[in-house]
Amino acid sequence: MSEVEQRLLAGAYARLPADFYAPQAPTSLPRPYLIAFNPDLGGQLGLSGDLGPRDIDTLCGNHVPAHVQPLAAVYAGHQFGVYVPQLGDGRALLLGDLIDVDGARRELQLKGAGRTPFSRGADGRAVLRSTIREYLASEAMHGLGIPTTRALAIVGSDQPVYREQIETAAVLARLAPSHVRFGSFEFFHYRGEAQRVAQLADFVIDTQFPVFSGLPDCHHRLLREVIERTALLVAAWQAQGFVHGVMNTDNMSILGLTLDYGPYGFLDHFEAMRVFNHTDQRGRYAYANQGRVALWNLHALAEALSTLIPAEAREAALATFEPLFVGAYGELMRRKLGLLEARAQDADLVDRLLLALQAGHVDYPAFMRGLGTFRPHDAATRAPLLALSRAPESLAAWLDDYAARLAGESDPGEARQARMNAINPLYVLRTHLAERAIRRAADHRDYSEIERLRRLLARPFEPCPEMDEYAAPPLDDGGAIELSCSS
Ligand code: AMP
Ligand code: MG
Ligand code: MG
Repeated sequence: MSEVEQRLLAGAYARLPADFYAPQAPTSLPRPYLIAFNPDLGGQLGLSGDLGPRDIDTLCGNHVPAHVQPLAAVYAGHQFGVYVPQLGDGRALLLGDLIDVDGARRELQLKGAGRTPFSRGADGRAVLRSTIREYLASEAMHGLGIPTTRALAIVGSDQPVYREQIETAAVLARLAPSHVRFGSFEFFHYRGEAQRVAQLADFVIDTQFPVFSGLPDCHHRLLREVIERTALLVAAWQAQGFVHGVMNTDNMSILGLTLDYGPYGFLDHFEAMRVFNHTDQRGRYAYANQGRVALWNLHALAEALSTLIPAEAREAALATFEPLFVGAYGELMRRKLGLLEARAQDADLVDRLLLALQAGHVDYPAFMRGLGTFRPHDAATRAPLLALSRAPESLAAWLDDYAARLAGESDPGEARQARMNAINPLYVLRTHLAERAIRRAADHRDYSEIERLRRLLARPFEPCPEMDEYAAPPLDDGGAIELSCSS
């Protein structure tokens, strides 16, 4: 028996009634080979990382252990605001559960393991490029301390997959305590199956929020918890410049995790209305819209739970979103600016910074990291910051305000820089860095860049000797790379 197989348990989700999923065997992947294995997560799962052919077969779905039942979960969702009554795992299978070294249970999903009843015409495969993007983004997000699904491994094959061009197939092994989405509830709600909604809510509570189990207002508490987690999640995305790209309700995790990495991106230059998904022509999922969209999606979730929670309680829960979101974002930005004490004008200071960054086409991560070197009384510390801007006057004016603001703080200087360096990453999964790892893998079968990047992004705040180039903004603005939904 292989290492993975030995540790794999029958999935808790498979204990739900049959209308929550379709049993589905993976489609075999011709001549699979290991492309990436994440030793950090592997270690957390008690895996040695010494994978044999049987492990590789298990991680791509070619070998299904006899004691598990692979399945495709059904869900629905609002896609770009339009309700789609049936979606589901169209290119992912839930294989079973793994218990990590701390005793926590996580679902193991194989993404790209072949067609399912929910594939809706597509092939159920994932291309190497999209698996590398999800693998790296999951681990970069985790490195930033932002809740996310995790990535364990990528198994590749030379099997061709037809997209905009011909690519090759790969399977991503990903993990999360639960992959239940807002859309999982919507599916049953809009079919009028209130009992199924209750069953799913109770399943989520019993397995993920056991402290709420059996309480008379457990469903209300669940909703409040999801609202809080989502507010904190999206506040963290905003603070770190992450754009999800497809915030449909079927991509919103009931656990407040970043879920389903598709046409995402991290901001290089700051641009409030930046869109990474080229099919999103109206910019519904632009960077600056993500807070609003999260609340819209939470309204959709609350509606899907309306048979369980009275209207006033739902409204009261939804009303907590904005203060939580604004408060969390404000606190993160205060920390990114190195400010210890909250002041009423801080939100304005942040707004004016973002305007100045946008006006000057300033690289967001490089500026925020660089800001730690600023010393109000040392004029020489301004030049490197102003050099990042194409409109240095507005940034200079902002630095004056920042200097004035720092004067009111109790600890200017090195301590501030150390705090800022612990929240302003030096290394970010910039689109061009992911692209380089993809090109080396796809064109040259060189997978070393994937691991190099993963390792760097796992500790994005720590300077790594000889990796300076990875901290630099893209030379060509990274603007040429187009990202699509189902790559
Ligand atoms: P996404 O935009 O990736 O969240 O996917 C939206 C829906 O399309 C989900 O129901 C997916 O399961 C399905 N889907 C996406 N890509 C594929 C694919 N390659 N094959 C089959 N179904 C897919
Ligand atoms: Mg079924
Ligand atoms: Mg999805």
